[in-house]
This record gives sequence, C-alpha cells and structure tokens, in this order.
Amino acid sequence: MSAHPPSPSRVAVVVEAPQHSGLWGALDYLSTQPLQPGTLVRVPLGRRVVTGVVWQAGADSAAGEVAEQDLKAVIEVLDGLPPLPDAWRQLVKFASAYYQRSLGEMALMVLPPELRQLDALQWGRRLKRLDKVISPPEATPKRRRKASAEVPPEPACTQEPPASAAVPLPPVPLPVLTEQQAQALAQLAIAGGPPGDKPFLLWGSTGSGKTEVYLRQAQRALDEGRQVLMMVPEINLTPQLEARVAERFAGRHIVSLHSGLTPAQRLRNWLMAHYGHADLILGTRLSVFTPLPRLGLIVVDEEHDPSYKQQDGARYSARDLAVYRARLEKVPVILGSATPSLESWYNALPEAEGGAGRYVRLAMPARVGDGDMPRVRVLDLSRAPKLPRGQEPPPVARELLAAITQRIEQGEQSLVLLNRRGYAPVLHCSDCGWKSGCPHCSAWRVFHKVDRTLRCHHCGFTERVPRACPDCGNTDIHPVGRGTERLEEQLAEALPGARVGRIDADVTKHKGALEERLATVHAGEVDVLVGTQMVAKGHDFRRITLVAAVNPDAALFASDFRAAERQFALLLQAAGRAGRDADVAGHSEMWVQTWHPTHPLYQALSRYDYADFAAQQLKEREMAGLPPYASLAMLRAEAKTQEAAVAFLNEAIEAVAHLAEALGGITLYPPVPTPVQRVANVERAQLMVESPSRPALQRFLSQSQAVWLALAQKNRRSGLIRWAVDVDPLSI
Ligand code: ADP
Ligand code: ZN
Ligand code: ZN
Repeated sequence: MSAHPPSPSRVAVVVEAPQHSGLWGALDYLSTQPLQPGTLVRVPLGRRVVTGVVWQAGADSAAGEVAEQDLKAVIEVLDGLPPLPDAWRQLVKFASAYYQRSLGEMALMVLPPELRQLDALQWGRRLKRLDKVISPPEATPKRRRKASAEVPPEPACTQEPPASAAVPLPPVPLPVLTEQQAQALAQLAIAGGPPGDKPFLLWGSTGSGKTEVYLRQAQRALDEGRQVLMMVPEINLTPQLEARVAERFAGRHIVSLHSGLTPAQRLRNWLMAHYGHADLILGTRLSVFTPLPRLGLIVVDEEHDPSYKQQDGARYSARDLAVYRARLEKVPVILGSATPSLESWYNALPEAEGGAGRYVRLAMPARVGDGDMPRVRVLDLSRAPKLPRGQEPPPVARELLAAITQRIEQGEQSLVLLNRRGYAPVLHCSDCGWKSGCPHCSAWRVFHKVDRTLRCHHCGFTERVPRACPDCGNTDIHPVGRGTERLEEQLAEALPGARVGRIDADVTKHKGALEERLATVHAGEVDVLVGTQMVAKGHDFRRITLVAAVNPDAALFASDFRAAERQFALLLQAAGRAGRDADVAGHSEMWVQTWHPTHPLYQALSRYDYADFAAQQLKEREMAGLPPYASLAMLRAEAKTQEAAVAFLNEAIEAVAHLAEALGGITLYPPVPTPVQRVANVERAQLMVESPSRPALQRFLSQSQAVWLALAQKNRRSGLIRWAVDVDPLSI
C-alpha cells in the first residue's frame, strides 16, 4: 500500500504584476512541499508561468479568501538557491510601501533580470556551471542539499566562515592617517547605541581622504568576517575607485553590481553576494537590495548625488534605503560627501544648531598634504567691454583666456566646464524667426555639428540639418547659444596650437571611450579639456591647475528648488579636480564666469563654506515649507492631451480631499504642466502633495492609492496613459 501524497497547503507568493492591475500584495498558491519564505518558485499567472518569491508559508491574509479548490499549484522550485533572507524581504516590503509600488513589482525588479527568466531546469544548469564561483572551496553541503529534494534548501554556504579570510593578504603600504582621518575612524569605532541607529555623515573636502576612511572601516568589517557594501553613484565614472579597492583588498572577493554588466555577469556577482562568498560589493543604486548574509558595513559615497534616486518605475532613493537597511540589519552606515544633500546635512546638524541631530557628523575639512583647494576667482561679466548689438559674446572672457594661455605655457592643463552638450541648443532663422523645435516635444532640437543633425534630447527624434529655413527658404540659419561641441571648436580657434579635447555623453557612448579619453588627459596629450558634469565627478586629474565654469548662472534662477544645491555641489566638486598634486596645488584656480558675482552661492563657494551655503538654503527652505522641513510627493500623469492629464489630476484631488482633511496637515497643490510639458507626443502634468509630517504623508498616500487606481481605470478611456506617485521627488 502506497503512502498518501502530502496534502497541499497554501503559500503566499509575490509575482510581478503591473501597477495598474491593482494586485498589490501576494497571491495564494498551493504547494505539496513546505516552502520557506524567500524561496524562488515558478507559478502560473494568467496564461503565463512567472517567477515569484514565497512571501510566507500559509495564506496571505490580505489576499482575501479564495477557496482552496480555486487555487493553482506552484509549478516548480528553484532548488539550491538559498531563500532570500528575512532582512531582504523586510527591505523590499518597506520600499514597496514607502514608494507606493506593488510588493511584487518591487521584489522582482530588484532581482537580477536573468534570475527572473530562468525555469527550474535552466536554473539547475546555470547553478552547476557557477558551482565554483559561488561556493567556498572547502564547502560541500551543496551535494547533500541536492540529494534531498523534499527538504527545503538551507542557506548552508552562507553559514560557513568566510573562505577568503584564510588567504594571506599581500602587504599594501598604508598611508599614515591624518589627524582628521584618525579622529573620524575613532568615532566610527565607538558608535554608541546599536550599530545603524545613528548613521554617520562623513563630511570631508574633496581630497580630504574620505575614501581612505571607507577603506579602513571596510578593513575592520572584513577582519570580522563580514561583508561590505560600498555604493557609488555611477560606476562607469569611478574606475579609479574600483582599482583602489581591488589593490587594497587583494585576495578578497570583490564584485561589482551595476547596470553596465551583462545579464550573466550580474547574476553571477549577485549570487556570489547572496551565497556570502563575495566580501566586498561595489555597486550603484540597485546594489542596495543585494541579499548579504554577513553584512557588516554600508558606505554611500557622494551621498548627495542625484543618481541614487531611480527616475522611473519604482522611484526609490538608494541612499535613504541604505539608511533604513543599516538600522534594520544593525550595521553601521557611512554617508560621505563634500557637499551633503540638505536632507542629510539637516539630519546631522545637532539639535542645538537647529538640526534634527539624528546622524553623527564626522568633519574632515582639510585636504591631505599641502594641497589646498584652488583659489576661487569670480569673474564679473557685466564689466566686460560692451559688444556691438547682435554680436555673440566670446565663450570665455579675456582674462580667463589669458589665464588658460598661461597654464598652457607652463605645461599645465585646464578644465572648462559647460553643462550642455551638442553644438548649439537651437538653430534660428533671423528672417522669419523659425527655430528648430521638436515636432513631438515642447522643446528645441539641439544642433550637433559633427554629423549635421538636429537632435531632440527628450525623445531622440533626429533629422539632418535643413539647408535652408523650412519656413521661408532663407539659407542663412544660424546656431544660437553654445554647447560643449561648439565651446571646444571656439576654444581651439581662440588658442591656436593648443590641444583641446572634450568629454561628454556624446563622445563617450561607446564602451571604453571614456577610459580612452581620460587616458589621453592623464598622459598630458590634452591642454584644455572641455566637459560636462561627467568630468567633474570623481576623476583624479594630476596636472589640471585651472577649472572654469563658463555658464553657471542658469541654476541661480531655476524653478526647481534644488537647483542651487546641485550647482553648489557641482562647482565644488569641479574645483576639487584642480591641484591634486602638491607641486602644482599652490597656484590652482577655480574660475566662475557670471553676471551675478555677488550672489550668495558664489560668495560661499569662494570661501568653500559649505556650512554657510547650507545655512542660507535651510533658511529659505524653512520659510517656504520645503524639504527637509516638509515631505513632498508628486502625482504625475501622462495623457494624450494636456486637458486629459489635468482632468485626471483634478479628479484625483477631489477624490481624496476628504482623506487629506481627516488626516490634517496635507496640502494638495493644483495640477501644473511639467517643465517640459510634451515629450514624444505625450502630454505631462503633475500635482504636488506636501506635508510637514512624513508619517502623515505616508498614511495619506497609502490610503489614496486604491482610490487613484480606480480613478485611473475610469480615465483610461478619456486619454490617460500612465500615472505614478513619486515620493521624495528630486526635481519638481
Ligand atoms: P576623497 O575621497 O576625500 O576625495 P581620497 O581618499 O581620494 O580623498 O584622498 C585623496 C588622495 O590622498 C588620494 O590620492 C589618497 O591616496 C591620498 N591619501 C588619503 N589619505 C592619505 C594619508 N593619510 N596620507 C597620505 N595620502 C593620503
Ligand atoms: Zn525663415
Ligand atoms: Zn522630441
């Protein structure tokens, strides 16, 4: 007589369902074998079979009562993959609730794309091939696990002592710490209270040796057998950090995680982290979700950088999630920056100074060695000789050109910064007034001279430059304004014999192009480097002694309340590119070409007084009721017509007004078109929700979600295409 098959029981599984399906939490399935939470399974969803994550054993109480006979069965289990840890599920759950996305979308989005696509058979094959990289050399329990399919896989490998700890490390000469570094590290060692409860804000000038502090603290964690997660804003821009980490921790397993990897590399690196085999993970924002069984430290370098915020789909802030995760997993977190975000700054400001006192501030104002920050020279454009009417001003004023010439004569390099790529932002016909607009967007198309095209930087629409004005036939159409391509050309003309180079997104599209261009700069084959913000970040230039921002004023009057903060950070970071070597540092200069020389931003920059700048900004923010004194969310809508977008938003306000009323302290602003209102023939509008209380805003949003979902379904017929909530929006 054969035994009865075990009776199937309910499991709650999260699957990726589109936001608009209205599926928010987990779905119930049946399984004949017990499945641990965090196990990856394949389940039927509609007519497809998809990958899901077991969220809990037993029914999901929120999923409602579906009769057992109506439930579908789990099809297969990705055996051999240790369940995703509790902390991972908790982080995903928090992110999903906080950023107002469905649990399934959040959970599946943060897994390596390849893992989501493999069925159990493919996964098994992949696992076999990866056997060596994901298992510590002496570990064998995998065999046992495979043999007993009934027993849920246990995360055996992750319990092993770190294999690499036994590998002797080659001696790397360590610099003697500066006093400030030593102090910062001493404070990091005391911590006080549970680790992670008080995040550290490492506020140090460019070149103050922040990276050295990260590396020392990482060493401590590694010595304790823990894993380190080190986050950087854009990995492609920081090959030098990767090299430094690899050199310092030779013998350790270091993996990177970012969107530039192939799907196979990404899966492999993620698995190494998840199995506990990788010691140090260097990654961009997506790495904040990496399951790390022996996590011991999180570092967020350049924590103010906007790229930590995802700008589409689930718009999470990896910096903020890192802080949450550190508290959750009780590990220290270091946020580092020369120009912290005002949110972090406010959090680290003691209560006695009007701040929140939630973070510990570690200050390292001095640069290592004798390298002072370059002297700032604010060049007043209003005092330049008047030009005849209609004549375009030169790209750089006379004094600045002379200064650059002098650097060239001394065999030194200059960096000229302009945050606008292309040749000219618009072409113009002076006869009839035609301008090179994009037919699909409310934006100008940018003139790119190199291939004689007009390109829309919003939708990508590209055409060859017309020979004559399309409206009146005038052949004399000319560029207005200046982008990096033109600046490069004009500087080459103004500096005969000089070698002028350029680095921006246009010339670094191909893999390796950025490294190649950087190498020519490092090799001294370029006298004057023209670049966008891309070059201001992270690169360690040895022979650049002059940095010039030639058109920084626009940010002073932008409607976006964060524009000034971003500009200050960019200029200070750019200044940090100059004079990195002691022998040239003494005469390094940072030039700012402006019509507003007395503007407080430039005044604070001249003194490198971030604290003063931050104080100015905080005062303004407090008066205006903006972050960090208030929390914001943006409800965005895209539709076939602007009317449809605005109509949806107006209905959205009406439908939740009573919720806002009941909660109190919630302000709903009227809908407005977004700064670029039409992109690729889609009209966009948004409305801002503001509250002095973050919890109140969170409650309001989570109560409003269902209402808005229903409303959006109804509005679909009237032309609504998409809608989304952006919590803590970076730009408004
Ligand atoms: P940051 O990250 O703050 O910009 P880095 O950590 O890159 O600064 O340090 C700047 C330079 O100073 C690097 O070349 C680094 O190797 C060097 N450096 C850092 N700390 C020390 C030290 N204590 N003694 C000597 N050189 C150091
Ligand atoms: Zn014309
Ligand atoms: Zn366009």
